[in-house]
Amino acid sequence: MDEFSVIQNYFQSLTAPREDVVFGIGDDCACVEVPLGQQLLISTDTLIAGVHFPLATTPHAIGYKAAMVNMSDLAAMGGMPCWASLALTMPEVNTTWLAQFAQGLKDALNPYQVALIGGDTTRGPLSVTLTLHGLIPEGKALRRKNAKPQDKIFVSDGLGGASLALRSLKEPLLKPDHQKILLEKLNYPKAEVELGVLLRSYASSAIDISDGLAADLEHICLASGVGAMLLEEDIPLHPLLKTYLGEDALSLALQGGDDYALCFTIPPENLEAFQTQLTSLNKLCYCIGTIEKKPGLRLKTRDHTVKTCRLKGYTHF
Ligand code: ADP
Ligand code: MG
Repeated sequence: MDEFSVIQNYFQSLTAPREDVVFGIGDDCACVEVPLGQQLLISTDTLIAGVHFPLATTPHAIGYKAAMVNMSDLAAMGGMPCWASLALTMPEVNTTWLAQFAQGLKDALNPYQVALIGGDTTRGPLSVTLTLHGLIPEGKALRRKNAKPQDKIFVSDGLGGASLALRSLKEPLLKPDHQKILLEKLNYPKAEVELGVLLRSYASSAIDISDGLAADLEHICLASGVGAMLLEEDIPLHPLLKTYLGEDALSLALQGGDDYALCFTIPPENLEAFQTQLTSLNKLCYCIGTIEKKPGLRLKTRDHTVKTCRLKGYTHF
């Protein structure tokens, strides 16, 4: 099978058509309509076998995750995902692999009516690059740079589950049913799209936690020229972290990547309205600390001593 048949068989009709796609797969470019008063948000993420997912990851999970990590970036900016393009490099045409991969991609894109509108198909070591385009009302994109002292810091989920799953693949650690739960967390992250849309109206800054809470919150702090005080007792841990890690649980929750929860800041005057809206969204978020003027990341422990965090998230180089 050549690449044209691959495209036609697996990707051409993968997603439902959208009215705003003038034309998609099949020409040199795709063409879409951007509504008046909206701006384009564009995000690209590459997944390399052995770096971003363990080699044993199922093709379905690879397809799903490639879409979700980009949707998570869009969610962190308050955007609605609309159109995707896929650069796929693979060592050979394996039809079983392709069918499962395409299904995973579809399962992630369909709930948000995202259309696959183009891409590139090449031979080489397995690598999946997805570019996602989304819409945001003009001027409403949530940046990393506008957190202010006194803003409250939130996260949208319990942390550390994905990195505990990763660790468990290197050393036998977990009971099989727990391993299953955690691998699900690692392989099938959920982008917080609806929460992101809500945050447009209330948050001063937001980021998605891909490299670990400490590292990603630090990005907000550096971009905003502020610091942060976290309260140890308020940081939500994935429930299985305590079971397996005891005292080390917190450090994994702070440093572990791949959770794709949102971390965001809410100014004091918006707190009440935000909490009300959150309830109507039926979504739980956790207040974990406060933005401060003094730069750096600090942690107030259960016995009220303040420690400076010198924790590093994941870096490639
Ligand atoms: P070109 O040579 O002009 O770049 P290609 O032959 O690479 O075009 O691709 C043909 C069409 O198929 C284009 O519309 C392209 O966007 C689309 N396409 C190629 N690979 C993929 C893919 N993996 N997923 C979705 N669309 C793809
Ligand atoms: Mg061309």
